[in-house]
Amino acid sequence: MMRLRFLGTGTSSGVPQLRCGCPTCISTDAHDRRLRCSAFVECADGTNLLIDCGPDFYVQMLHMPRAIDIDALLVTHQHYDHVGGIDDLRPYCWKNEHFPVYCQADVERDLRQRIPYAFSENPYPGVPHFEFRRVEPFKAFTIGGVEIVPVPVNHYRLEIVGYRIGRSLAYITDAKFVPDATVEALKGIDTLAINALRLKEHVSHMSLEQSLEVISRIGPRRAFLTHISHDMPPVHEAARLLPANVSFAYDGLEIDIDD
Ligand SMILES: [Zn+2]
Ligand SMILES: [Zn+2]
Ligand SMILES: [Zn+2]
Repeated sequence: MMRLRFLGTGTSSGVPQLRCGCPTCISTDAHDRRLRCSAFVECADGTNLLIDCGPDFYVQMLHMPRAIDIDALLVTHQHYDHVGGIDDLRPYCWKNEHFPVYCQADVERDLRQRIPYAFSENPYPGVPHFEFRRVEPFKAFTIGGVEIVPVPVNHYRLEIVGYRIGRSLAYITDAKFVPDATVEALKGIDTLAINALRLKEHVSHMSLEQSLEVISRIGPRRAFLTHISHDMPPVHEAARLLPANVSFAYDGLEIDIDD
């Protein structure tokens, strides 16, 4: 069995958004409070994967109910809300002297500029040590005993990746458009995590309606929505808009998946 934990389910500004008093931001329902988007996957063979490492990573790991190692980081793309916390991976580098970071070439370039001190000739003692492993659309690779397939999606002008992990799970965030080839590659999965920003259309993220459309094209048994903005109505209202096999994820939600 595999376990997916949603570490954060909010869009780039988090929910509540600072300085906002809208109904979602003032909601007292804990399911309406969302840290930046990230997930943790505990695979059946004991491999532990972190998907994205945003600015809330430190706090998210404090809330983990189990003390746990991380074998690798899978990065979807280089936006701050998905990589802003990578310096906090330092404690995990002490185990693997070079901590593996799986990402596309443009993401690697960006990360080298984001924390240049970690890649300098003569680094200051204590900086994190990362080793980049290149991912390319549809090129499967394995970590431990787990097969992972990067699947491309379009995030406005950026071609970013989601990940299929094992046979049963796929994780997509920040998609505005999901190409047919990606839909094909995800046929037969059990559980899909996918982004749905708000009700209204947005330039670089799918609206709820667009996300539900992609879910029905892929056809998983069940889907969980993430990367949600404060423009989404509070969940107790918005949940009525969802078909029976789709739910809003929330921070700390754990899903067991047969693999
Ligand atoms: Zn994002
Ligand atoms: Zn708000
Ligand atoms: Zn983004």
